[in-house]
Amino acid sequence: MSYVIPPAPQASVPVVGTTQRFPVHRIYCVGRNYAEHAKEMGFTGREPPFFFMKPADAVLPVNPGETGQMPYPTLTKDLHHEIELVVAIGKGGKHIAAADALSHIWGYAVGLDMTRRDLQGEMKKQGRPWCIGKGFEASAPIGPITPAAQAGDVQQAAIWLQVNGTDRQRSSVGQLIWNIAETIEHLSAAWELQPGDLIFTGTPEGVGAVVRGDVLEGGIDGLGTLRVAVA
Ligand code: MN
Repeated sequence: MSYVIPPAPQASVPVVGTTQRFPVHRIYCVGRNYAEHAKEMGFTGREPPFFFMKPADAVLPVNPGETGQMPYPTLTKDLHHEIELVVAIGKGGKHIAAADALSHIWGYAVGLDMTRRDLQGEMKKQGRPWCIGKGFEASAPIGPITPAAQAGDVQQAAIWLQVNGTDRQRSSVGQLIWNIAETIEHLSAAWELQPGDLIFTGTPEGVGAVVRGDVLEGGIDGLGTLRVAVA
């Protein structure tokens, strides 16, 4: 195979305990999947899960022990952090039943769904797509993936984010409205999941703005921490 222009490099994420990397196919994100975050965004009640996407090359992979450097994006004055559990799919499929869903998971990671909230809000108001608010370069910082067998009980793990050492978000993955298996069931009814897909499962309450110079540090019990500086 030869190409008329050089093909883009394969987006990938480090993996705990090996130099081999996880190749990224698609990035799916779940909206408003923690009740207290839904409330802070002005919504109540359990609605079916809904999804949006980021391009695969929106990942900002951060190696263990390192600090990722995220450039402050253009056009926004309100860049928000959303700490999230990320599910890495190892085995694809469509119409995956919740009961079978966990067998499709290769591993888990700590991620940030960085959001240009002012642009997202404007698009929402106008009934337009969220892409400009969610799908920009480096909008998906992510730490190394921990293989599922080594990850412990992610379903009930504590999830937290600090900015410059001060708590911003602190909850439990157990607070998800749609749990991991249910999310995969809904998602795979709409798209055929592929090995390499990442699913950002939603953020708990406490989202807020960061500015240049801020250092974000977040974690999920059993999956280590993710450290990102806004440059
Ligand atoms: Mn999110």
